[in-house]
Amino acid sequence: MSSSESRLDGRIALVTGAGGGIGRACVRALAATGAKVHAVDIDGAAVESVAAEYGGWAHTTDLADPDAVDALPAEIDILVNNAGFQHVAPLPEFPPEVFTRVQQVMVTAPFLLIRKVLPHMYERGHGRIVNVSSVHGLRASPFKSAYVAAKHALEGLSKVAALEGAAHGVTSNCVNPGYVDTPLVRDQIRDQAAVHGLPESEVVGQVLLQRAAIKRLIGPDEVADVVRWLAGDHARHVTGVSLPLDGGWTAA
Ligand code: NAD
Repeated sequence: MSSSESRLDGRIALVTGAGGGIGRACVRALAATGAKVHAVDIDGAAVESVAAEYGGWAHTTDLADPDAVDALPAEIDILVNNAGFQHVAPLPEFPPEVFTRVQQVMVTAPFLLIRKVLPHMYERGHGRIVNVSSVHGLRASPFKSAYVAAKHALEGLSKVAALEGAAHGVTSNCVNPGYVDTPLVRDQIRDQAAVHGLPESEVVGQVLLQRAAIKRLIGPDEVADVVRWLAGDHARHVTGVSLPLDGGWTAA
């Protein structure tokens, strides 16, 4: 961070899915830049350890529960909608209840949180919404119907928030990682190996990164650095965009 404009001192952030992976890295990056962070996750032990390490507040919350989402604070300057999970299955076998839960956690909860924090952001004339989407918000892959549908919905929600928030100093953007080195991906390597009938060792190169030019998983800290950049005052003119961090996947 080169200019004082890039600091986030005095800002209050809320990060969902903060217990691990990209969310935890976002808490670390935002706190290191001066923000105080509400860390939200269904995994209470994980989120307590994040708050113990980086300061701020821990909230043990199941984002599929609208009442639990409603209990979260509204006085938020930087909202990072990050929580998510994957389920891999062919469409005829995809469990409807899992499809519904994916939409609740990855679409309805971001909607409820945006709806909740916007009045405070409008009052302050400033706000940053960063939605952790995916390359799967822009492209589809087989066997990921719920996840691809949810991420495409998040893209639309983010753009509407950008249009409505613009007059109030609020920006809304998506970041769109390719495969990140997190537990979510390590689980997928196992699941994809079963679906494609490949050994796990071949899944990263042949399946996950088949369409990417850069053949390595991105680190969570690299994603968090971009989230932090979008949260800064300098990014006030960047809104309604979806920023691929995909090693060239969508360029091909
Ligand atoms: P992760 O599994 O490491 O972290 C996800 C976090 O969300 C976990 O801590 C989990 O407990 C939490 N969570 C899940 N369901 C929840 C619920 N109902 N209520 C509250 N918290 C819940 O995964 P990650 O890779 O860090 O993923 C974070 C985000 O990044 C997700 O939205 C994911 O879709 C997106 N993403 C990940 C990758 C990747 O390759 N890992 C790529 C693109 C996008």
